[in-house]
Amino acid sequence: MTHLVNDPKKFAADVLAGFVRAHADRVMAVHGGAVRTTETPQGEVALVLGGGSGHYPAFAGWIGEGMAHGAVCGNIFASPSASQAASVARAADAGGGVLFGFGNYAGDVLQFSRAVEMLAKEGIEARILTVTDDIASSDTHAERRGIAGDLPVFKIAGAAAAQGWSLDDVERVTRHANDRTFTIGVAMSGCTLPGADAPLFSVAEGSLAIGLGIHGEPGLSEVPLGTAQEVADDMVDRLLAAFPADRGDRVAVLVNGLGATTYEEQFVVFARVAERLEAEGFTLVDPEVGEHVTSLDMAGLSVTATLLDDEMEPLWRAPVDTPAFRRGAFGSTTAAPPRRAALPQQVVAERTSGSGASQAAAGVALGRLDEVVDVLKEHEAELGALDSVAGDGDHGQGMVLGVVGAAERGHEAASAGVGLGTLLTEVGEAWAESAGGTSGALWGAALVAAGERLGDTEAPTPGDIAEAVASAVGAMREMGKAEPGDKTMMDAAIPFAEALAERVTAGNDLAVAWAEAVRVASDAADGTAAMQAKKGRAKTHGDHSVGHADPGAISFVLVAKTVVPKEA
Ligand code: ADP
Ligand code: MG
Repeated sequence: MTHLVNDPKKFAADVLAGFVRAHADRVMAVHGGAVRTTETPQGEVALVLGGGSGHYPAFAGWIGEGMAHGAVCGNIFASPSASQAASVARAADAGGGVLFGFGNYAGDVLQFSRAVEMLAKEGIEARILTVTDDIASSDTHAERRGIAGDLPVFKIAGAAAAQGWSLDDVERVTRHANDRTFTIGVAMSGCTLPGADAPLFSVAEGSLAIGLGIHGEPGLSEVPLGTAQEVADDMVDRLLAAFPADRGDRVAVLVNGLGATTYEEQFVVFARVAERLEAEGFTLVDPEVGEHVTSLDMAGLSVTATLLDDEMEPLWRAPVDTPAFRRGAFGSTTAAPPRRAALPQQVVAERTSGSGASQAAAGVALGRLDEVVDVLKEHEAELGALDSVAGDGDHGQGMVLGVVGAAERGHEAASAGVGLGTLLTEVGEAWAESAGGTSGALWGAALVAAGERLGDTEAPTPGDIAEAVASAVGAMREMGKAEPGDKTMMDAAIPFAEALAERVTAGNDLAVAWAEAVRVASDAADGTAAMQAKKGRAKTHGDHSVGHADPGAISFVLVAKTVVPKEA
C-alpha cells in the first residue's frame, strides 16, 4: 500500500518535485524529467535513462558524475512520451550525442524511438539501448524485459561516457554489458498503485512467485516459500543455467530489494549467493546489496550477475557520484563546474485558423472527445483490472491521462480557431504526451495521422472519415507492428477500419456504417479472450491472458462506440 498520496494521478510529478528539492545541488527538473545541475564537458556523450516512475533509485537517482546526465520520468509504471524524452535529451546533450537507456518494454521502445527521430531533425544524434536481463521472461536474450540489470549496465555506460568515449564506443560497450547481464527475481507480494486499494497481484501465503516483473506483473510460476538459503540456491541455479559457456571468472553481483523487503533479508540471501558463486570459481567484484530498481511496495528481491571482462571491469569499478549510488572518489580538482548554458526552450508551433466548415467540424469532434473523457473515466478501474491479468495494470490510468490531456489541448486549439485537421493533430500529440505507455503512443500516432488526412479546409465527407480512420489504424499498425491474432487493440482496430470503409463505399449512411463497424470491432475484441498475447507487455506472461480479452481492444471499442456520428 502506498499510504502518503495527494492526487494519485500527480504522484509521479510530486515525487520528482521532492526529489529535485532534496538534491538541488546535483539535479534540476526540466520538462519530462531531470538533468544534472553541473556542466558536462563539451563533446561528452550524454547518457539519458528513463522509463516509468515507481522504481526509485532507477532512474533519476542515478543522475550525476560517472553515471547518467539526465532521466526521463514517466507516470508510475508508464513509459514517458517521446516529447518528454526529447526534452530531457536536449537539456542533457553536450554535443557528443545521446544514448537513451531503458528497460525493454514495448511502450518505452516506441516512445524513445520516436524521440530519436525528433532529435535527428534538430541535428542531435541519439541512439537507444534496451536492457534485457530478466531470464524468466524469455529464452532469447534480446527479447527479455529489463529489470535490476539496469544498474550494472547503466553504471558501465556512464563510466564510459565520463571517460570521453565516442557514442559508437559507449553504445558498443553498453550493449556488450547488457549481453553479459542476467537477472532472476522472486516476489512474496505484489505492489499497489498509488490511490488503488488492492495490489496488482498477490502471492498466496507461504508461496514464492518466481520471475516477477517490476511493474506488478505477476511471477511466471509459484513454488512453496523455502528458507533464504533454498531461495538463494534456486536463483543461483537458474542464473548458472542461463550463463553462456564462456562465462569467465569475474562477476559483478547485485542483490536488489524491490521496495518492501528488508536489507537484512537481502544480506542473508547475498551471503548464500556469494558462497555459491565462489564455489563455482567466480570472484565477486564490488558487489552491491540494496534497493536500486524497486517496484513501489513490492516484497521480493532479485539477483543480477554481470559477467565482466577486462574492458567492463574498470568501468564497473570507476567512481560514481549520484544521489542514490556512490562509489570511489573523484579528485576535488575534477569536480564539474555548475551549468553555464541556459536550458533549451520548448518549441511551440504557431497555430493557423481553419476554414469555417473545418472549424465547425472541429467543434463537433471536440464534443465527442469530451464524451470519451467521461466514458474512459467510467471504465478506468475495469480496464486497469483487465491489464493487471497479464500486464501492469495501468491501461485504464493511461487511457484517462491520455484523453484528459488530449481534451485540454483540444479546447485550447479550438478556441484559437483551428480546423479539424489541426485539432486532431494537436489532440494526438497531447494524448501521447499525457499518457505515455504503449497505448498512449499508438493513440497519439493514430490521431495525428487522421488529422493529417483530414486537413483544415473542407468539412469531411463520409468517405474522408473512412479514409481518416484507415490512416489512423494504419499508423497504429506501422508503429506497433502488431498483426491480427497478436492479441492487441489491432484485433479490434483493423476490422473496424475495414468494415467502415466497406459500408461507406457501399453507400451506407455514415451513422449506419459506423454502428455496424462498432459491432464488428466489439465481436473481434471479445474474441481476443481466446488468444495468447504475442505483442506488448502481455507477451512475456505465457498463457496468463487466455480467457480475458485484451484491454487495448476493449478500450478501442469503448472509444469507437462513443464517437459514433449521431446526426450524419
Ligand atoms: P503498456 O503496455 O505500455 O502498459 P497500456 O497498458 O496502456 O500500455 O496498453 C496495453 C495495450 O496496448 C494492450 O492491451 C494492447 O492492446 C496494446 N498493445 C501493446 N503492444 C502493442 C503493439 N505492438 N501494437 C498494438 N497494440 C499494442
Ligand atoms: Mg499497461
